[in-house]
Amino acid sequence: MADDQTLPWDHEVDLLIFGAGAGGMTAALSGALRGLDVLLCEKTDQVGGITSTSGGTIWIPGTHLSVEAGVPDTTEAADRFLQAVVGERGGDEVRAAFLEAGPQMVKELQQHTEVKLVAAQAHPDYIGNVPGEAYGGRALSPTPFDGRRLGKGDFARVRPPRQEFMVLGGMMAARNEIDALLHPFGSLDNFQLATRTVLRYASDRLRYPRGTRLVMGNALVAQLLFSLRQTQTPLLFETRLVALLKDQNAVVGAIIEGPQGRQRIHARRGVVLATGGIAHNAPLRRQLYPEAAQAHCLAPVTNTGDGVEIALGSGASLAEGLDSPGLWMPCSILKRQKGEDLIWPHIILDRAKPGLIAVNSVGERFVNESDSYHDFVMGLLRSPGQKPHQPAHLICDRAFLEKYILGMVFRGTKRLKPFIDAGYLFEADSPAALASKIDVDPVALKQTLENYNRDAAAGEDTAFGRGSSAMNRFNGDASQTPNPCVRPIGPGPYYAMAVWPADLASSAGLAGDHEGRVLGADQQPITGLYACGNDMSSMFRGTYPGPGTTIGPAMVMAWRIAQHAANQAARGQ
Ligand SMILES: Cc1cc2nc3c(=O)[nH]c(=O)nc-3n(C[C@H](O)[C@H](O)[C@H](O)COP(=O)(O)OP(=O)(O)OC[C@H]3O[C@@H](n4cnc5c(N)ncnc54)[C@H](O)[C@@H]3O)c2cc1C
Repeated sequence: MADDQTLPWDHEVDLLIFGAGAGGMTAALSGALRGLDVLLCEKTDQVGGITSTSGGTIWIPGTHLSVEAGVPDTTEAADRFLQAVVGERGGDEVRAAFLEAGPQMVKELQQHTEVKLVAAQAHPDYIGNVPGEAYGGRALSPTPFDGRRLGKGDFARVRPPRQEFMVLGGMMAARNEIDALLHPFGSLDNFQLATRTVLRYASDRLRYPRGTRLVMGNALVAQLLFSLRQTQTPLLFETRLVALLKDQNAVVGAIIEGPQGRQRIHARRGVVLATGGIAHNAPLRRQLYPEAAQAHCLAPVTNTGDGVEIALGSGASLAEGLDSPGLWMPCSILKRQKGEDLIWPHIILDRAKPGLIAVNSVGERFVNESDSYHDFVMGLLRSPGQKPHQPAHLICDRAFLEKYILGMVFRGTKRLKPFIDAGYLFEADSPAALASKIDVDPVALKQTLENYNRDAAAGEDTAFGRGSSAMNRFNGDASQTPNPCVRPIGPGPYYAMAVWPADLASSAGLAGDHEGRVLGADQQPITGLYACGNDMSSMFRGTYPGPGTTIGPAMVMAWRIAQHAANQAARGQ
């Protein structure tokens, strides 16, 4: 943006950061720990962005936490793994910097802040049967956080999780707690956990608008906010980036707009963009995303791609050569007569279980259904017969619904009628009748089921290799032998549920280097301009190697940015 350089600055800081999600909050906290004068600006009245609605899993190889969890991991093994997964797509220098810095960042946060993480003993990488893959140790999670520690004011500043992921209207449940809460009488452990959690929630609701026991992404954001308050890091709400200010080719500050009106802020050490990636930015979606994946986005609607758009207007460039511009999740949509539609991301609970397949718009299978949500959608987008504006369908039988969850139809739900009436679930006595309800070719669907069932009777999936990776089997059902992901489907009644591609994050984004500096059209760093989180293009180049592979890099690169800016400050540059 052309700027009148004669205008005075309204305010001066070292590091000016936009966006209070995992990326921006970690950059601010790490900057504050290094003695930098930091200002964090958040567009909305709450911190958290997509991060607070996420699973909060953080993929960082080789940490001391993996050793503590008894599943020691090394960055060398992770490097081999990433070389196999990402291959020749580029980004090697950035990934090397991530691997080197990750364990250091975790140690620093763990020792000096209230961000407390643990390594999962079992949470396998998403790509199996390649060198260096890990079964446990790499996926870190925030420990549950007691929201009451924030005080009422700051607790209300934490963006709540997705409505679909809360039970009883406002209680969070971690992945491993859902079953106990849904089936409290299933076992003594279930009963104890459910009683404890529900009693705590009931007491919370006397004083708070939702439960204060925070888990997953909400816990991470709350821990970051708590730590920012402890370090007295300035944080402005309802204050957004409007434009970057340049002197020659260097970014020297930004115009912000908030309750005080417009202000010109001088950033002595740099501006950090962490506004959550492309998300709902319609022109960028049209430019970069395949037509079939443009309609649905899981980010809060206030994530409108500001950082990427404004940086592009200031001479930044987009990364090229990615496997995919988005990281995807298959989602089912429950239309409601009152209130917003509910969108359910099919993360792990149903697709991997035995007795379910997915078919495309011509009634054919297109992928190993037990693979990651990203690879599931990639299979759909690449599937030759698929029509762009049609969903895929998950197909199962009644026994599946008795035993497992299917989207928002929880295990053992007796009254299926409301879901069927809402067009969320389709029911029919035969595959052919089901096919006509979901608008696919009856002959094709019948043939698909016959082919699948023939293999499944022997516990095999010769077409797509279901159950062939550690991650497949981990998310399957161990009681199903010989293959925890495969059993024949039928007899009827048969059920179908439509799933659509949606982006859980963009992987396309600004081109950047190993210090988090944004690159210009000449592929050289733009002095004074950094990006992290989804604003920076994915270092895994549009692949999705494992659980937590967006938040992990977001936090580690944010930490590197703070370190780079602090080193520059120390050198007086
Ligand atoms: C259901 C779901 C589950 C997921 N689970 C995981 C998981 O377990 N692990 C994982 O790694 N990834 C997960 N993801 C993806 C992950 O949540 C995101 O990739 C990540 O949180 C993005 O972090 P961020 O800091 O880039 O953006 P955000 O967390 O979205 O933060 C961006 C912030 O910038 C603010 N902002 C926007 N514009 C401006 C502006 N102009 N000025 C100032 N502020 C602005 C926004 O309001 C927002 O608060 C999941 C996603 C979904 C949808």
